[in-house]
Amino acid sequence: MYIIFLGAPGAGKGTQATMVAQELNLEHISSGDLFRQALEQGTELGIKAKSYMEKGLLVPDEITIQMILDSILAPGCATGAILDGFPRNLPQAKALDEALPKHGKAIDKVVFIKVSEAELLKRLDGRLICRNCQTPYHATNAPSKVAGKCDECGGELYQRPDDTTEAIKKRLQVYSSETAPLIDYYTQKGKLLEVNGGRSVDEVKHGIIDALKGEGLSA
Ligand code: AMP
Repeated sequence: MYIIFLGAPGAGKGTQATMVAQELNLEHISSGDLFRQALEQGTELGIKAKSYMEKGLLVPDEITIQMILDSILAPGCATGAILDGFPRNLPQAKALDEALPKHGKAIDKVVFIKVSEAELLKRLDGRLICRNCQTPYHATNAPSKVAGKCDECGGELYQRPDDTTEAIKKRLQVYSSETAPLIDYYTQKGKLLEVNGGRSVDEVKHGIIDALKGEGLSA
């Protein structure tokens, strides 16, 4: 089972993808996490991605597509995965649709987590993540028990360099112009499942699981 999680920055894709992957026993592939890990480790991939990420721009397709295909085709993902943050534009979606059938795979469904722009701005302003395990927090809405420390692993919490006001604006613009057209693309293929993301984390999770069950895709 291969499922894409689609949504604007701040829609809760990462949080939901982590929880639903655990529940359905699927791998979770997050393009943003892969880039952030590469950046932390100072690898060639991280160095190439850095300037784009800091400005809130998309990393070039040739780098991103190869990175994700390598992850999907790794043995750990043989039975399925949730793709979080990829594809992010039409060329990436088309590359995926071309590459997967060559390996006997296909995208089953696309979960679109819909959240209003006002709510997105509220969520992104104040977001913190763990440098070690990537668990997300919010300075006021979902703070950690000990300020600056991750509840899960004790790692340091930090503000993503692309969560500054300027970069947030840019990322939302990039989402509207480049990523939002994927909603039509997958609707036309009969693969889109829209879920109201403006609710509590648990309610959204149940909404996603129910939508997948309705398609016969969940245990
Ligand atoms: P995210 O954590 O998904 O918000 O991603 C953080 C940043 O990583 C984005 O703002 C982009 O710079 C880069 N990135 C993540 N996924 C992609 C993708 N599919 N295509 C291009 N750039 C990406």
